Formats: sequence, C-alpha cells, structure tokens
Amino acid sequence: MSEEPQGLNMASQLPRRRVVFAWDMHYACNYRCPYCFYTVAGWEELAKKCVYKSAAEWGEVWGRVAARYGRCQLRITAGEPFTYPDFAGVVAAVTEHHDVQITTNGSLSGPIADFAARLSPDRAELDCTFHPLVADFRVFADNIRLLRAKGFVANVCYLAYPGQTADMMDYKRRFAEAGIHMNLAVYWGQYQGRQYPHAYTEEERAWIKSVIGQEVGPETVGLEPLAVKGKLCGAGHRYGVVQADGRVFRCGQLGYDHQSIGSILDPDFALQPAPQPCTADYCRCKEYQSAWDEADAAALDQRGEVRR
Ligand code: SF4
Ligand code: SF4
Repeated sequence: MSEEPQGLNMASQLPRRRVVFAWDMHYACNYRCPYCFYTVAGWEELAKKCVYKSAAEWGEVWGRVAARYGRCQLRITAGEPFTYPDFAGVVAAVTEHHDVQITTNGSLSGPIADFAARLSPDRAELDCTFHPLVADFRVFADNIRLLRAKGFVANVCYLAYPGQTADMMDYKRRFAEAGIHMNLAVYWGQYQGRQYPHAYTEEERAWIKSVIGQEVGPETVGLEPLAVKGKLCGAGHRYGVVQADGRVFRCGQLGYDHQSIGSILDPDFALQPAPQPCTADYCRCKEYQSAWDEADAAALDQRGEVRR
C-alpha cells in the first residue's frame, strides 16, 4: 500500500434513523458526465417525469411521512439538487420534519452560499462528488471550504471511473493540500463495452486500494460484488427511493415502472410491512446499509457476509 495523502474527512453528525428515503428531486443538472445514469438514459426524456412543487408543498408531503414514521433521514440526489428552484427553501421546509443528506457536484457557488446562509448544520449534511472531466478544482474546493466554515459536514468523493482513474492519486494529494480528504467510490456501469466493477483488472483493483490506502473498508465495498438474490432485505420496508414524479421504489436497482410500491404524493402512502427477498443479482450503492440492521450492514462491509 502506498502512503496515503492526508486530509480531513468529517464524520456524519446526523443520528441514525430507522427509516431512510433517497429522493431524486428532479432530473436536471448543469453537467453531462459520461458515466451518469441519467446521461445514458437521456435527460430530455427523464425531464418529462419531473414534478415541481414549492417549499410549502414539499413541507406538507414530508410532514405526512413524518406523522407516520417519525423523523427519517432523506438522502437528496437529483440530477444536481442545487439546480432545483428555491432549493434552500425546500430543504428548510423539509428539515422541519427530517434530517437531510445531500449529494451534489459542488459546482454552483451562488446557490451553495444561499444554502449555507439559511440552513442549520444540525439538520443537513453534504456529500460532494468531484467530477474531474468537467469540474473546476478551485471553485469546487472553495465551495467545500465555505460549507465547512459554516459548520456543515461536507465530504468529498471521486468516482473510480476507468476514464479517470489515472489521475485519482494526484487529485487526492491536491485535496489533501487543501485540507480535504478525498474518498473513492467504485464505478458500476459500462465502459468501452465492459461491465464494471466486474471488469476491473487485478492491477486496477490494486491501484484503487492503494489510492484508498486500505485493503478492506467502506470505500472498497462493491469492488468484489456480492450476490444478494433471494436474501431478505429491508429495502421497501425501512428504505425507499422516491423518483422525481413521487413514485416510490424499494431501491435504485428495483426502480422499473412495474416495481413501484406507491407514491409519496398519495396521502395514504405506506412502506411495505416487512422485509422481502431481493430480486437483483448484486447490490449497488450501499443501499443495504440503510435497509438492514446496523450489525448486518457492518458484516457485509467487513467480511462479505450477509445474514438471512
Ligand atoms: S454531476 Fe451527477 S447528476 Fe450531473 S451529470 Fe454528473 S453524475 Fe450526473
Ligand atoms: S439487497 Fe440491494 S438490490 Fe437487493 S433489495 Fe436490498 S437494496 Fe435492493
């Protein structure tokens, strides 16, 4: 293992909540990353599904969910959440009822400054993905520093996409020089006709681990995909993915039209009453970490085992 450049990684301060939702707020973004699921699926077609609501309307919708399940954790993705109209206002309304974790490309300095001025770090945290093929390093790093100066947990992630793995140690060093720890995420998807992460070569796996600086840990999850088909999973029971039109799915992988379990906009919406067997071959995106009890998720992270 090579020596790992240092930098600050901030531990989440949000309490673990029993029920977690991932919310794809809308399908719009100021970037067009080649590895993005939405770029591959087609932004224009996806945009037809977007349902835009005001801060007060979203406050009402998520207030109903809180009345049923208590305070939950909402993981907001989009596209790019900071392009949503009045994003800071929507988050302010929603955080009356739930804690919020936001995944962003960290590029939009104006909306990020507005957010940092209006929101409380006790209720909202950010995961900022650096996209080296399109992003400006200095703007991104400045936005991270602004958020941190205002007390927000704001961590940085870099995707081990085959087209950008060569530069990842350099970027890790540059972030470390700026006082920021850079986490790595394993790539799931196609590249030059091959399916990743299965297609990573032994050399690529070793390189990824050396940039991470660890043989086994949260960042290496997914590097050796584990079969999950048939195993009981709490996705749908204590975890749900809300798409931009309000429909809810068990998880991102089980997100096809016929797999919807209801709509968050329906006043009677309820999650499934019990865990169900998984119907996917492999579990991406660490969603099981929310859907399973902590001990089970930790077992999968550390030993590659899943308890039934
Ligand atoms: S920044 Fe995120 S949502 Fe936007 S194109 Fe890139 S991967 Fe997709
Ligand atoms: S194991 Fe993963 S893919 Fe399967 S239902 Fe659970 S979260 Fe979805």
